[in-house]
Amino acid sequence: MSTGRFRLVPSTLSDPPRPPPTANTTPSYITFQASPAAPTPGSFAHDEVCPKYNHRWNNWAHFEAWLAQEQQEDCVELRLTNTYLGMPVFERGLRYRCSRAGTGGVKEYTKRHPEWERKIPPKRTGCPCTLLVKQYPGVSTILGNYFKEHNHSIGSENLRFMRIPNETREYIAGLVRLRVASDHILQMLHRGAYENDRPSATSTPSRADFIQLRDIRRIEKEIEAEKVRLHPDDGLSTLRWVESLRAKGHLLGFKSKTDPPPAGSNLDRDVFTLMVQTEPDMASARLISGHHESNEPSDPKRVAAETDDLI
Ligand SMILES: [Zn+2]
Repeated sequence: MSTGRFRLVPSTLSDPPRPPPTANTTPSYITFQASPAAPTPGSFAHDEVCPKYNHRWNNWAHFEAWLAQEQQEDCVELRLTNTYLGMPVFERGLRYRCSRAGTGGVKEYTKRHPEWERKIPPKRTGCPCTLLVKQYPGVSTILGNYFKEHNHSIGSENLRFMRIPNETREYIAGLVRLRVASDHILQMLHRGAYENDRPSATSTPSRADFIQLRDIRRIEKEIEAEKVRLHPDDGLSTLRWVESLRAKGHLLGFKSKTDPPPAGSNLDRDVFTLMVQTEPDMASARLISGHHESNEPSDPKRVAAETDDLI
């Protein structure tokens, strides 16, 4: 018994107990804690300390308010040109560029009268001004990289290159629909009649001061196109046009290619015919008819062209 004890003691001393298995892993665990792995590139933790992101907003609403003010103050337009999705690292990246970015392409033709100087310099100047903003999962903060350098004048000098605000377009469209003459609309805009309707009228120039006759003509054409092109499918468009004309009492007669010709009309079976009285008080009606190669009802524009040929 005693021998056994004697033997046991030296054995214990010469072979000290091994440290528990965790003892060896503890130092490396502490090391890991002291120096964490670098944050994933593109994540909030990464971008937050990255000098590239020189702007920061508390949330999306703050960013939007800042963007609106920035554009208004400088009279520039920063347009969203690209959206990148990056989950799970970041939610969205949005690229905005100055509306005068781009070169406008190379002219394919030689000017017949190069001596006729353009009144307005080209809109596209290849402007390098750009803004990238990023949203991150679980973080309301927005980070942005803003390169605010324009290669053109900003402020009121740039107003003419900005898009006509929707409010002003609607005002013009309303006058066009009331059949106010284009040059009269232009005079009203330039006299500031529209601006003075607003309580906050100031003497600083506005986009409306730079509206040209061609801008009004473009709005007129859009309204015209709205009336004519009622459906992306030309065939259906024609039928809707016919319905609209019928509703307004402008339609005197309509024969599609599939309708039989009226008795005694001597019309060919596959003829498409539309009789339109464009104004209710017009004494005469126009007879529009023509042969069409396709089975589709005619494009209204084509009908209009044929009308011009007939009259
Ligand atoms: Zn610019």
